[in-house]
Amino acid sequence: MYVVTGGEMHQIDRYTMEQIGLSEEMLMENAGQVFKEKLLSLIQANEKIIVFIGAGNNGGDGFVISRLLLERGCDVKVWVIPSENRIRGTACKHKDIYKKCGYSFQHWQGKEGLAEKDLSKATLVVDALLGTGIEGPLKEPYGEVISLINSAKKRVISVDIPSGIPNGGDEESRGILASETYTLQAPKLSAFTFPSAENYGQLHVLDIGIPSRSFQKAGIKRELITAHTVKDTLPVREMNSHKGKAGKALVIAGSESMPGAAVLTANACLRAGAGLLSLAIPQSIQTIVASQSTESTFIVLENTKGSISPNAFSDAISFNNFHGVAIGPGLGRANSYPLFKTLQPYSGLVVIDADGLYHLSQELPLWRSEQRQGATIITPHPGEMAMLTALSVAEVEQNRFEVSKSFAKTYQMYVVLKGPYTIITTPEGHQYVNTTGNASLAKGGSGDVLTGIILGFLLQHKSIQDALCNAVYVHGITADRLMENLDTFSVVATDLIDTLPIVLRSARY
Ligand code: ADP
Ligand code: ADP
Ligand code: MG
Repeated sequence: MYVVTGGEMHQIDRYTMEQIGLSEEMLMENAGQVFKEKLLSLIQANEKIIVFIGAGNNGGDGFVISRLLLERGCDVKVWVIPSENRIRGTACKHKDIYKKCGYSFQHWQGKEGLAEKDLSKATLVVDALLGTGIEGPLKEPYGEVISLINSAKKRVISVDIPSGIPNGGDEESRGILASETYTLQAPKLSAFTFPSAENYGQLHVLDIGIPSRSFQKAGIKRELITAHTVKDTLPVREMNSHKGKAGKALVIAGSESMPGAAVLTANACLRAGAGLLSLAIPQSIQTIVASQSTESTFIVLENTKGSISPNAFSDAISFNNFHGVAIGPGLGRANSYPLFKTLQPYSGLVVIDADGLYHLSQELPLWRSEQRQGATIITPHPGEMAMLTALSVAEVEQNRFEVSKSFAKTYQMYVVLKGPYTIITTPEGHQYVNTTGNASLAKGGSGDVLTGIILGFLLQHKSIQDALCNAVYVHGITADRLMENLDTFSVVATDLIDTLPIVLRSARY
């Protein structure tokens, strides 16, 4: 499933109408039909519905929805915000059809009018005010209408997107706070960008019959990761495989203050399929780490003040013995830069996380793909991405798609920008959005587990992008599975590793 900007969706709509020949009236009728079917399947028989209609095509959808619900005998009050002569084009046609079917509507005449009374009696609000066509700050009376709806605290279902949210997410205009959003044909970027994602409530995608050809013609390079894509791309281990063929992984992680990060990354990597795993850690934590990671082998490095010594590295490790390396979790920043530098000439896959990203920010140009033989994968959370790009965290969060794409293309790296709706970007600029996972992951150690799964999966998959998508999906769905029995407060990173095997099995079958 594709993910689009408002502008791309307009382009896709235009192609569908002009080149394919499906008319706008018909698409609007389809949208109303599928919206009505979905709505009827989720509401009570005696629901008191109020529909708010705006001037554009979103309002046109509102007229179709209102008509079809009234035809079904539902209790529907319809409020139209603009004056009738402001409603043009296809929306106007559907307004006329609505009227010719014998239905009427009320005009918004300010907050004190009857709308407030109808709203207080309603049990369900349909928001068909504004779609992706809005430009600039909200114009009145829309701001006023939206505040009224938000303060009524009713169940609100938005058509396509919550009204009033700008595409990229702008703090100033809050927009409708929907309980659910039934988005048409393809999710929009604003559903996965903050703060606008918070306006959406639960997201449902409705197929209104826009052909996939229209998306292909628009050259959309953004997709959702789905259970299907994961199932289709998870490799099977060959019958005659052996531990050396199943991937030799090296994890460079941990320090005296963060030994657990090394354990989490290593154990997750083993659970994600690595055939052999070596952990490079400072000597002072070896006993404790070994006691918690039975299957790891160790490269024990000289120790300075609780972390890997600056002069420990050069002769200690033959990187070429490994198929892939992850560096960073719990490493500490103080002494490990020389060690980080020695990894740059290595010809295999390198996953950089946590304190490794701090070192990377010191020598980014050296890690551009033309300077390296192997692929580089970075796994920043928004704070780490802000450090790498010299942007603020808010700038990263509001422009997550653009920031990751520009970084991935500039440095020719794979970027896994973490957070709710993690985005994976390839060096070519293809993007994959993950929708699994939940707020129980907001706890120290969950990222270390992801780094381990990523390295493990990289060694099992032929395609880097499949490995990353599948790793992020499985990590998230493991947390979702845990939430069936545990409270959001209570999930810890170790639970993820323990539950991964069973989740991985069900993702495969
Ligand atoms: P479409 O462009 O497909 O008709 P919408 O349903 O989003 O999509 O309609 C946009 C409508 O909103 C237009 O009629 C326009 O006049 C109006 N509009 C544009 N910008 C704003 C704004 N900032 N605030 C309120 N209304 C707006
Ligand atoms: P740590 O370094 O402590 O292990 P990170 O911040 O590096 O943690 O990684 C946190 C992980 O948890 C990431 O995979 C991120 O996507 C996920 N995560 C954190 N908060 C949420 C949330 N609210 N919803 C979904 N996923 C989340
Ligand atoms: Mg982290």
